Amino acid sequence: MNIVLFGPPGAGKGTQAALLNQRLGLAHFSTGEEFRRHIEAGTPLGARIRAIVESGDLVPDDIVLDVVREALSTEHYRQGCVFDGFPRTLAQAQALDNLLAERGSAIDLVLTIDVPEEELVRRMLQRGRSDDNEAVIRERLRVYQERTAPVLDYYAQRGKLRRIAGNATIEQVHQAIRQTLSTVAANETMSNLSSS
Ligand code: AMP
Repeated sequence: MNIVLFGPPGAGKGTQAALLNQRLGLAHFSTGEEFRRHIEAGTPLGARIRAIVESGDLVPDDIVLDVVREALSTEHYRQGCVFDGFPRTLAQAQALDNLLAERGSAIDLVLTIDVPEEELVRRMLQRGRSDDNEAVIRERLRVYQERTAPVLDYYAQRGKLRRIAGNATIEQVHQAIRQTLSTVAANETMSNLSSS
């Protein structure tokens, strides 16, 4: 099962992906965490992207896709993955479909977590990450609207998009995600039965 957790920065994608990993054993891949690791370790990649990440802008697609391609080639993600913070552009979404197709796989479901903007800002200020000051937060939200939100149409047109109400407790959002996953799994079983 390959799932994309989608939504604006601060929506709780990382928190929910970690819970799905803990409770359902689904592998979790976050491009943002991968980039932060490189920046902290001072790798050449980290040096290249540091200023971009700290300004709230997006890392260029070719760099993002190199990191994703490398991760997907490891055994860890062979059985599927929860993608957190990726894809963030249309080009990334198309490239992800191609990468998975090469492996005989596909995105099964895209869950977008909806949270009002002021709540997003409040949560990110509380989280206090190094790229979480108010000016950078506003920039990340602007970039999300401009470059990332259009990716929702791509998945909606393919019938893969489901919305999750994210203005609730961590546990409530987790249960809503579990509910959606089981509904989709049940529908797939029904359609497999009726087509066989
Ligand atoms: P996140 O942890 O998902 O909020 O990501 C932190 C930062 O890493 C973002 O603000 C971007 O600068 C960069 N980043 C993470 N994922 C991507 C991606 N898929 N495409 C471009 N930039 C990304």
